[in-house]
Amino acid sequence: MNSESAPPPPYGFEKPVNYQQAPPLPPQPMPIAQPVYVGTPIVIVGDYPMQCMCPRCGRQIVTRTEKKSGLLVWIICGVLFLLGLWICCFIPFCIDSCRDTEHYCPSCGAMLGINKRI
Ligand SMILES: [Zn+2]
Repeated sequence: MNSESAPPPPYGFEKPVNYQQAPPLPPQPMPIAQPVYVGTPIVIVGDYPMQCMCPRCGRQIVTRTEKKSGLLVWIICGVLFLLGLWICCFIPFCIDSCRDTEHYCPSCGAMLGINKRI
């Protein structure tokens, strides 16, 4: 048989929330020393400081490297956690070869490239 069942009545329409516009924020001071990615096609591969010309300040420099925990570190951490080895989750954060390397200009501080693991 064809059992006709009426669709459930729609939920009561609630009044649209009256979003009040927040007052404009006071001008905030610019953050200092943010790394600026200059966006020039420099291919920097490697974990060690390398010599190149900074496209921002135009000097011949040897890059300053910083290790950052990238995607690979978090994936390893997640896998260790899922395997029940949560006590070892911090280990990839200590292994430099799992971490990304960022290259900065020591002169002007511009970020020149990232050597990503993934
Ligand atoms: Zn520079």
